Amino acid sequence: MALIVQKFGGTSVGTVERIEQVAEKVKKFRDGGDDIVVVVSAMSGETNRLIDLAKQISDQPVARELDVMVSTGEQVTIALLAMALIKRGVPAVSYTGNQVRILTDSAHTKARILQIDGQRIQRDIKAGRVVVVAGFQGVDEKGNITTLGRGGSDTTGVALAAALKADECQIYTDVDGVYTTDPRVVAKAQRLDKITFEEMLEMASLGSKVLQIRAVEFAGKYSVPLRVLHSFQEGPGTLITLDEEESMEQPIISGIAFNRDEAKLTIRGVPDTPGVAFKILGPISAANVEVDMIVQNVAHDNTTDFTFTVHRNDYNNALQVLQGIASEMGAREVIGDTDIAKVSIVGVGMRSHAGVASRMFEALAKENINIQMISTSEIKVSVVIEEKYLELAVRALHTAFELDAPAGNTAE
Ligand code: ASP
Ligand code: MG
Repeated sequence: MALIVQKFGGTSVGTVERIEQVAEKVKKFRDGGDDIVVVVSAMSGETNRLIDLAKQISDQPVARELDVMVSTGEQVTIALLAMALIKRGVPAVSYTGNQVRILTDSAHTKARILQIDGQRIQRDIKAGRVVVVAGFQGVDEKGNITTLGRGGSDTTGVALAAALKADECQIYTDVDGVYTTDPRVVAKAQRLDKITFEEMLEMASLGSKVLQIRAVEFAGKYSVPLRVLHSFQEGPGTLITLDEEESMEQPIISGIAFNRDEAKLTIRGVPDTPGVAFKILGPISAANVEVDMIVQNVAHDNTTDFTFTVHRNDYNNALQVLQGIASEMGAREVIGDTDIAKVSIVGVGMRSHAGVASRMFEALAKENINIQMISTSEIKVSVVIEEKYLELAVRALHTAFELDAPAGNTAE
């Protein structure tokens, strides 16, 4: 008999009919002999609706009160699901974050979980009940309601699984697993049976939005086996694990991630003296702008060019700061480009294989795609290219690294 934490996202509990379907599913697992703790999100669209209400009162609603309000979304779905289970003869009980006691810090709207008291839930499980817990919310030391940030129910699920030492945390959603890349871009994308936490983190931070990044970090830290599955279709989903198999079949690259949210800034002709990088990036960071890729050219004539990328939302802000720095430093000019995209190949297999990057560059060269910037880490190679070639690049790389599904084996 296993203890499983099952998390159902907003679309999976988006209507009363769907909540009934979720109840059926939970009942099936329980009839099979497993102990089940369910974590649910608010009905899809509900959290947005609530935030919108608050914005009608104030552009910047008081964070504490915002949390009191948005946490109600999940309170509705836990009760509805418990009712639907009880109706089916399954003993069930629902709890808010406060009732479980999911203790968080006091950073309203982006709180972090500090501790979970599993006792109450353990008692219910022993008594044969399915426990339904509100995702996304907790309570601070002083008893204030907190929330964990958008998509936070994933983190609730993983944290509960860790606290209860569950055998698996299953994240049910509207896709049937993690794919080699976005199936909307590459029709031949394949569902992965397995992916490592490290790879999943890279994929998630690069814009594959299946799981909240914090949930993946948490699962990796506490070694919680995590599985992504479709709520209403049968299938094994994708298991996210710690172990890296060294099998021959293991592909070198697990997936291709991409991101259209970045912009590029270049400051040209800066004097090549010690402290230049700090002089440029210090004020950028002081302006609360996060920098992703950074490239500094080899100097000639005692000057150098310095290029970096930021989130597109921060572009105007960063540009202004940089223009200020440029005139102070006597740099030649500042240029910016928002029509860029970042494409990355991700895979733990890279550690043991040489020539992965050049294979990537070769595939892009064949399509005549110019690479503007390159950065590498142990399990990732990223390039910045012109945005209009993004889809072509992703498709070419998917083929070059032999990720294409055999005919007839693609996502519908
Ligand atoms: N309901 C919250 C949100 O929409 C939390 C979640 O769904 O995970 O962000
Ligand atoms: Mg979600």
